[in-house]
Amino acid sequence: MRILITGGAGFLGSHLCDRLIEQGHEVICLDNFFTGRKSNIQHLVDNPRFELVRHDVIDPFKFEVDRIYNLACPASPPHYQYNPIKTMKTSVVGAINCLGLAKRVKARVFQASTSEVYGDPNVHPQPEAYWGHVNPIGLRSCYDEGKRAAETLFFDYHRENGVDIRVIRIFNTYGPRMLPDDGRVVSNFIVQALQGKDLTVYGEGSQTRSFCYVDDLVEGFMRFMEQEKIVGPMNLGNPGEFTMLQLAELVLKKVGGKSRITHLALPSDDPKQRKPDISLAKETLDWEPKVPLEQGIEKTIAYFKSSLS
Ligand code: NAD
Ligand code: UDP
Repeated sequence: MRILITGGAGFLGSHLCDRLIEQGHEVICLDNFFTGRKSNIQHLVDNPRFELVRHDVIDPFKFEVDRIYNLACPASPPHYQYNPIKTMKTSVVGAINCLGLAKRVKARVFQASTSEVYGDPNVHPQPEAYWGHVNPIGLRSCYDEGKRAAETLFFDYHRENGVDIRVIRIFNTYGPRMLPDDGRVVSNFIVQALQGKDLTVYGEGSQTRSFCYVDDLVEGFMRFMEQEKIVGPMNLGNPGEFTMLQLAELVLKKVGGKSRITHLALPSDDPKQRKPDISLAKETLDWEPKVPLEQGIEKTIAYFKSSLS
C-alpha cells in the first residue's frame, strides 16, 4: 500500500515509518519539523519506497494514498503551549485536511488522539465510554480541546460522508527518539540523571501516569488500522500505573550517579491520575503491551546515553 504519515519525522511517526517500510509498503512522510527531526528518518531517505515531504498540515495537500496516519501535532506540554493557537489549528485544520483527502481518494484515515481527551479524569481507570473532565480555557486546552474537536470531525466525516476512519487514544508513550529537551517526564528524568542534574518532580510527585514503550504502541497502531471490526475510539497504552516519584526513583536506580530529587511547582490543570482501560484493545486486537516499565526505561537510557555523548 501507499501510506501517508503526517508528523512522520517525530518520535512515534518515525517508528511507524520504520515498521511500515519493513512490511514492504511505500511511505510518504509529511512533516513541518516543528518537533520532528530529519535524523529520526535519515536512515530511510535512500530507500526507494520512502519519500520525505516538508509541509504543514494546516495547508491542504494531495497524495494518491491507501492509508493516512495523522500524527502531526506537538505532544509535549511545553511544545504545544509554545504557540497554542497554532496547536489548535494543527489539530483541527490538520484533521479537516486529512479527512478531505481521505474522502477524495477513498483512503482509510487514522487519528492519533490522546488520553488528554479525558482531562483530569474522575473515572479511573478510563474506559472509552468516559466523556472526560476537561478545562476548555486553561493552558492545556489548546491540545486537549483541539484533539477533542478532531475526534468530532472524524466521526462527522464518517457519519456524513462514509469516510473510513480509525481513532485511537494514546496514553503516555516513551522510548528512543524522544527529544532530549522535549519536556515530557521520561525524557526529562533520564537526561537529567545522565547529566548529573537533579530530577525535577513537579508538585509532590503523587500524580500518576501509565507509560507504554513505543514498540508496543506502534504494534497496536498497525493492528488497529488493519482490522475491520470497529472504527474506535480505542485506548492504547500500558495499564501499569506509577507515581512520578516512583518513576524518578526508578530512573535514579537505573542510571546511578549523584542526582537527587528536587520538587518544582505543579503546572496548572495537571491531571492527578491516568490509567487506560484496555479491555477493548485486548478483545478486538488481541493486543497488550509486552515491555515492562523497567525494561523500557533501560532501553531509553541506552538511547540517550549514545545520542547525548
Ligand atoms: P512529536 O512531537 O515527536 O511528533 C509530532 C510530529 O508532528 C513532529 O515530527 C512535528 O514536527 C510534526 N508536526 C507538528 N505540527 C505539525 C504541522 N502543523 N504540520 C506538519 N507536521 C507537524 O510527538 P509524538 O509523541 O510522536 O506524537 C505523535 C502524535 O501522537 C501526536 O499527534 C500526539 O498528539 C499523539 N500522542 C502522543 C502521545 C505520546 O505519549 N507520545 C500521547 C498521546 C497522543
Ligand atoms: N512531570 C514532572 N517533571 C518533569 C516533567 C513532567 O514531574 O520534569 C510530571 C507532570 O507534571 C505530569 C507528569 O510528569 O504530572 C507527566 O508529564 P508529561 O509532560 O510527560 O505528560 P502529560 O502531563 O501530558 O501526561
